[in-house]
Amino acid sequence: MNLVFLGPPGSGKGTQAVKLAQKLGLKHLSTGDVLRDAVKRGSELGKQAEGYMKRGELVPDGLIIGLIESMIKAGELNGGFILDGFPRTVPQALGLKEMLYNNDINLDTAILFAVDDEEIVKRLSGRWYCPKCNTGYNYPAQMPGVEGRCDKDNAQLRRRPDDDEAVVRNRLEVYKKQTKPIEDFYRGESILVEIKAQKTPDEVFEAVLKEVSSKT
Ligand code: AMP
Repeated sequence: MNLVFLGPPGSGKGTQAVKLAQKLGLKHLSTGDVLRDAVKRGSELGKQAEGYMKRGELVPDGLIIGLIESMIKAGELNGGFILDGFPRTVPQALGLKEMLYNNDINLDTAILFAVDDEEIVKRLSGRWYCPKCNTGYNYPAQMPGVEGRCDKDNAQLRRRPDDDEAVVRNRLEVYKKQTKPIEDFYRGESILVEIKAQKTPDEVFEAVLKEVSSKT
């Protein structure tokens, strides 16, 4: 099964992608995670991406399409995948379509996670993560047992610099301008399904499973 998860930042698509990938044995590819890792390692890709990410802007299409292309060529997506955070522009969606076609891979469904703007700002300003194991927390809905510490390894929790409210509002604007048109692109391909994601993670996961099992 090959899936694209679409939705504004903070819509919960990353959390859902991790759970679904685990349940179905799919490769979860978050371009945001790949880029953050590249920045941390100080690689060439990281150096090129860092400034855009800090401002909440998208990194250039060529850079990200090249990244996905190298993964497809290396066979990393062969056993089924969930793309989380890619594509994010119409040129990326067109690039993906061509790369998949050239490699005989079919995209089954694009799932859109729909959430209101104000809920997103609220969610992201309460988002914390563990720098050691990457477990996510959401204040006040999902608090750790000990304030500021990861339940699994006791590491000091951190916030992503781009979860600052002003940057979040910019990321939302970028989503509306550059990413939302992809919804129409996949609607036109008849593979878009929308899930109302302003619910608990378990309720949303149930809805995701229902959609995915209706396609098999
Ligand atoms: P995310 O973790 O998906 O919210 O991504 C964090 C940041 O990484 C974004 O704000 C962008 O700067 C960059 N990024 C991630 N995926 C893409 C993409 N497909 N195209 C362009 N920039 C991206």
